[in-house]
Amino acid sequence: MSSVYEVINPATEKVVTAIELADEAATDAAIERAHKAFDTWRHVAPGDRAKMLRSFASVVSAHREELAALEIENSGHTRGNALWEAENVANVLNYYSAAPERLFGKQIPVPNGIDITFKEPLGVIGVIVPWNFPMPIAGWGFAPALAAGNTVVLKPAEYTPMTAIRLGELALEAGIPKDVFTVIPGKGSIVGARFVTHPKVRKIVFTGSTQVGKSIMAGCADQVKRVTLELGGKSANVIFADSDIEKAAANAPGAVFDNAGQDCCARSRILVEKSAFDKFMSAFEVAVKKFRVEDPSLATSDMGPMISAKQKAAVEKYLDEPVAFTGSAPSGPGFWLPPTVLLPTSTKSKSWNDEIFGPVVSVMTFDGEDDAIAKANETEFGLSGSIWTRDSGKAIRVSRAIESGNLSVNSNSSVRYWTPFGGYKQSGLGRELGPDALDSFTEVKNVFISTGK
Ligand code: NAP
Ligand code: MG
Repeated sequence: MSSVYEVINPATEKVVTAIELADEAATDAAIERAHKAFDTWRHVAPGDRAKMLRSFASVVSAHREELAALEIENSGHTRGNALWEAENVANVLNYYSAAPERLFGKQIPVPNGIDITFKEPLGVIGVIVPWNFPMPIAGWGFAPALAAGNTVVLKPAEYTPMTAIRLGELALEAGIPKDVFTVIPGKGSIVGARFVTHPKVRKIVFTGSTQVGKSIMAGCADQVKRVTLELGGKSANVIFADSDIEKAAANAPGAVFDNAGQDCCARSRILVEKSAFDKFMSAFEVAVKKFRVEDPSLATSDMGPMISAKQKAAVEKYLDEPVAFTGSAPSGPGFWLPPTVLLPTSTKSKSWNDEIFGPVVSVMTFDGEDDAIAKANETEFGLSGSIWTRDSGKAIRVSRAIESGNLSVNSNSSVRYWTPFGGYKQSGLGRELGPDALDSFTEVKNVFISTGK
């Protein structure tokens, strides 16, 4: 039996639309259709597959405003972010549209024959998407998967299905054959769980909480199903006294409060070298007060609401630690929280250890390079992080020493569609984006051809 989910605009708490959720039978039927479509999709000539992906990219680009408007309404993303996110889907499709003709194998010298390798598609790929970045995270999964000749079933998060559903329609409009890319709105416990147990789904691409990620990994073990995991983070923004403190402080709010802190890359721990603490904090306070938390549809908005009342309540539990200062937030309807800067008293404090996933940042001091590295690494996570210093040797030493997949020096930007993205430790398994992501959507097949008489 199917059920219906009412999508709520998190900035107004008004019902936007009702979405029919798939049950297990509908999920199975979609997986069977995707499995059937794999037979033809994998044999589409590489150049033709490439053209279809480019066409999909241009249709997405042409619908950028529409997709952004849907994301603002469904997820409370700021207009600036939502436009970037829609364009990111087009960019990722364009990037991987160059792949079908370039899925090279190797020719390896062997006696009495020829040895060659092929990169073969896996089959049906199940992509499970969270609610924090519905468009980019979907695209990072489906674009390389399709380029490598797989078909895709995609489950958006219950809270945020609207852009994914639209992307599914745009794929058809762009000429991607039916059943090659299918969006299946539904519950994680039903649709997502079925992706894990269904033997015809050959790989899971999961982004979301570490807790669910672990259960998915355990479930995949049953069939030795391939799995890529992008999980949580508790990234450090490490600010040395010799850095451009003004610049580091001016950029620190965006590094953690962007998307209301609901970002696995959020730099939610700020580590400041002791001698620069006062200077940093006064510049940081100015920047936090300037950070505009307002109606996300406005072009001036830096931050919108939280995704849900539940997520807001989960974040509020962390606000019992000493507060340095806060920004502002609208009152009235909507799941609003002001950006909040905490001063935890010890590295054991809850706010210093948990992924809060809201507009909350904790600040602590450190004493020199070794202490900075030790404190940055004192977490089960390892996704992202920043290092601010004018000493290039130190920047490289610290970058090499921090156990994290995506670091930036004198910058907070860690996502580019053409560079690899993924986590150390409990932040994940495998890498998305960039030139190597295709390897996780293909199997290497080795073939020996005898030239013996
Ligand atoms: P979540 O439960 O991990 O949800 C992520 C996705 O997995 C959603 O599509 C969800 O579906 C699905 N799912 C849930 N249970 C599943 C299961 N048993 N089998 C297969 N799929 C399943 O995350 P959440 O509950 O939305 O958020 C909780 C916390 O996770 C956040 O506070 C944050 O700390 C973290 N989080 C991290 C990221 C990230 O980017 N790394 C993203 C989101 C959340 P439903 O939508 O139907 O539940
Ligand atoms: Mg959950």
